[in-house]
Amino acid sequence: MPRMRDETSLIIPAIRAVLDEALAAGRRTTGGGKAIDEHQVHAERLAYAATEAAAAEALAAYAAERRAAGAADDILERMAAAFAGEVASRLRAELEGQRDDFGVAEATLARTLGAPEVVAAVRAAQHESRLRDVGREVIRTRGANNCPIDGDVAEMARDSARGFARKEVAPLAERIHRHDELVPQSIIRQMAELGYFGMSVPEEYGGQGMGNLVMIVITEELSAASLAAAGSLITRPEILTKALLKGGTESQKRRWLPPVAAGELMVGISVTEPDTGSDVASVRCRAERAEDGWRISGAKAWCTFAGRADVLALLARTNPDPKAGARGLSLFIVPKDPFPGHEFEMRQPGGGVLHGKADATPGYRGMHSYTLGFENYLVPAENLVGEKDGEGKGFYLQMGGFAAGRLQTGGRASGLAQAALEASATYAGERKQFGRPIGDFQLTQHKLGRMATHLAAARQLTYAAARAMDRDETVVLEPAMAKLFASDVAVRVTQEGQLLHGGWGYAEEFAISRHVVDALVLPIFEGVKPILELKVIARGLLGG
Ligand SMILES: Cc1cc2nc3c(=O)[nH]c(=O)nc-3n(C[C@H](O)[C@H](O)[C@H](O)COP(=O)(O)OP(=O)(O)OC[C@H]3O[C@@H](n4cnc5c(N)ncnc54)[C@H](O)[C@@H]3O)c2cc1C
Repeated sequence: MPRMRDETSLIIPAIRAVLDEALAAGRRTTGGGKAIDEHQVHAERLAYAATEAAAAEALAAYAAERRAAGAADDILERMAAAFAGEVASRLRAELEGQRDDFGVAEATLARTLGAPEVVAAVRAAQHESRLRDVGREVIRTRGANNCPIDGDVAEMARDSARGFARKEVAPLAERIHRHDELVPQSIIRQMAELGYFGMSVPEEYGGQGMGNLVMIVITEELSAASLAAAGSLITRPEILTKALLKGGTESQKRRWLPPVAAGELMVGISVTEPDTGSDVASVRCRAERAEDGWRISGAKAWCTFAGRADVLALLARTNPDPKAGARGLSLFIVPKDPFPGHEFEMRQPGGGVLHGKADATPGYRGMHSYTLGFENYLVPAENLVGEKDGEGKGFYLQMGGFAAGRLQTGGRASGLAQAALEASATYAGERKQFGRPIGDFQLTQHKLGRMATHLAAARQLTYAAARAMDRDETVVLEPAMAKLFASDVAVRVTQEGQLLHGGWGYAEEFAISRHVVDALVLPIFEGVKPILELKVIARGLLGG
């Protein structure tokens, strides 16, 4: 019996030692992160390598935790070792290719990733038979996720969310997707009753105060049933809640958080504009002071759920001087009427107009994402988050909200990948070719084993980020890494799952085809992948 745990505990410190030296060199090269843009390609490599290393560490730590609890799990040990081995191999190959950029000394490599015992551990850990063993187990259990989570509350929350998602959401998911319908009120109402809109809202403001880990576990289950018509419904209140907790006045928290937590107010987040996406500091939509409040004018893009929403958290320029950059932006809570359908127009008695039209998308259907046009749209003065003190702080508050959104997206991505894994494992057990279930073939087992392993790493990285955020709400790096890695895993796992379904994977009546198009959006929003890598993760790693 190979000692997988020994392999993992040889590989992980070797990865960390190399990475630490590479990050130290990266800090010197970029002047403490100031010159990342002069070294973008290398900074991106470092950010990704550090993210994968964090995922390997999270999975290894989870395996060790189970062992320490007297519940060692052979499959989990295999996955932890295999993923550590994969990350080590990739890092070593990167180092070989770009030795000068990485700045890791030959001697460091020789005593870490190049040491004979580490090389042997990496080879053994990655042996294809190991992942085939995992794959066979995945087929046997149809991919079910029942991984123990410390604390009874999270496991109970998972069971309850799973029951709701499978019974109430899953049967509607395909119809909503195929007909591009709006998420039905019945789902919103039931989610509200279950308290899902107020999971991170403190109890004093009418929420559940359950914390981030429970929120993530529930998000996974909802997203497995439908990314857009369930899991993602929570993202918007999460973002607004965190922004309000960070910068709202006491009376704003008391006014807005209870109805948001109760699911009485649906929320949209409006940052992106037709010509301004990643460069958020250049937002141009204006808010001008008027006698009766603020008047909003300008265009916004990709505002998800803007039709149905009762309020939009909108980032607008209150200081017209473009040189003010991020310091000229403020965050507003913009009330509007809810509208069904794909297009709406709202006219205010005082002449303000808000027009919205949904952009057609291949997936992520159920909430619809709108291009918006504001003309002199009136917002009461007290709706500027932070009121007088909040003027010019919108960028900072929005970014705090996005950190929470990214954590939640780690959960969304893990849930979606879980759905793809279960569908594929089930299909592999049932579909026969060449006289055998396709799951009997070595390659199918290996693929399912690798999918499950990557998903386990994404899940544990996201849980680790949730715990980090439970300890300190201001963390930025951990949720960004969870979002980056889990989104990529969701894209890979759904696409592998589609191939395992063969031609039926391309048929709309098979859920895997929806999972594939849904997953594609995950690396795009809340900081498109290259921006997340450079401006959040590399900056966080190299700037400190
Ligand atoms: C379905 C969907 C839903 C969305 N929902 C919302 C929402 O609810 N609210 C909201 O506000 N937004 C939303 N968005 C918008 C999303 O957040 C943006 O699309 C995203 O931030 C990227 O902005 P962009 O599309 O303008 O891309 P751009 O900023 O134009 O970037 C495009 C590409 O250019 C390159 N690039 C740009 N800048 C740099 C740089 N400095 N260095 C190197 N490369 C660079 C990168 O490769 C990048 O991927 C949604 C988007 C989609 C597709």
